Amino acid sequence: MNTYSYRIDDIVYINLTNKCSNACEFCVRVTDSYKEYSLWLDNEPNVQEVINSLDKVDVDSAKEIVFCGYGEPTYKLDVMLELCDYFHSIGKKTRLNTNGQGSLIMGYNIAEKFKGKLDTVSISLNATDAKKYQALCHSEFGEKAFYALIDFAKECKKYVENVKFSIVDVIGEEEIAKAKEIADAVGVELRVRAFIE
Ligand code: SF4
Repeated sequence: MNTYSYRIDDIVYINLTNKCSNACEFCVRVTDSYKEYSLWLDNEPNVQEVINSLDKVDVDSAKEIVFCGYGEPTYKLDVMLELCDYFHSIGKKTRLNTNGQGSLIMGYNIAEKFKGKLDTVSISLNATDAKKYQALCHSEFGEKAFYALIDFAKECKKYVENVKFSIVDVIGEEEIAKAKEIADAVGVELRVRAFIE
């Protein structure tokens, strides 16, 4: 069965695709399980199928809607943007969790399309230089993926109120300090989050 939306605490997550330009060594796609959910999709949903799936997650009481799921949501850019309008129309905040490679994936600068659609963009930084990033995340774009995600953050800042980098806490204090320098240089917040096994 396809899980197009699921809820954890007061956040509803939207799962649009299995596709991703990375193959991160820590990705939950490898085990096909996240908490009690199987997120592998047999079919990518259209807008109406996502809306239909919301019956089960009590979207009315949710604090925020997050495009996240297994894969990289920007592969389904048009569906995501249309859903942003829907969620705004019912009074919900929207967030994109992304690997920051959406403009490489789509072949043009997608950030300008986020204006008025996304309230927050959270970009996984994952490492503090291009070589380390590629060793961990194995992007199909190679080392340029790291530079692209930094540029993407700068672009998103022009159109989205809250832009942040996120990094997992297992990388150690020295790396976290370097990540903070990168975030400061771009002018975005760094969120250090717990590693989920
Ligand atoms: S970017 Fe996210 S979805 Fe893609 S492989 Fe890495 S952890 Fe998995």
